[in-house]
Amino acid sequence: MLNLILFGPPGAGKGTQSEKIIAKYNLIHLSTGDLLRSEIQAGSELGLKAKTLMDQGILVPDEVVIGMIDNKLKEHRDAAGFIFDGFPRTVKQSEALDNLLARYNESISVMVALVVDDNELLARLLNRGKTSGRPDDQNEELITKRIQEYNNKTRPVADYYQEQGKFVAVNGIGDIELIFGEITKAISAA
Ligand code: AMP
Repeated sequence: MLNLILFGPPGAGKGTQSEKIIAKYNLIHLSTGDLLRSEIQAGSELGLKAKTLMDQGILVPDEVVIGMIDNKLKEHRDAAGFIFDGFPRTVKQSEALDNLLARYNESISVMVALVVDDNELLARLLNRGKTSGRPDDQNEELITKRIQEYNNKTRPVADYYQEQGKFVAVNGIGDIELIFGEITKAISAA
């Protein structure tokens, strides 16, 4: 199996690149942000609880997203592999993911990090907010909060996979096809 983590701050281009990776490698896309937004749409209790935090740009509890990923891994036992997008976002989530995959004698193949500076992220997210309809893309304060959450809680996840020798950084600014080319190189080397 190819199990890829696409890593990076909000607005780094994970969604855009995920689509291209899925098309090329036939992977199952697991975005915890998308899964949470589906729960909100469905009006579930979990969705209602998550929405309060998401609307403030704060991470939802680890147990919530770990449970969702657990269910999806069970659902897709015959997959060629997975692309994890927006997950793991804390070291606790990383440890849980490694344990869940180990149950199936699987592991993370590689983490590819898209590197984009904070000014560019803010500009991209404000622009995305014009059309995304996402409440958390609408104002500068909220976007800054999300980038702060990333810097405080999520950055250490990169070190976690670096220690396992699985971390590759790719410049996330520039032509989408060129960035995709760099990602495919990292995957081939994994
Ligand atoms: P995203 O679509 O990945 O930008 O996620 C949108 C929001 O959903 C985040 O700001 C968090 O509130 C929540 N969220 C998504 N994935 C996670 C995760 N792995 N851990 C905690 N919160 C998450």
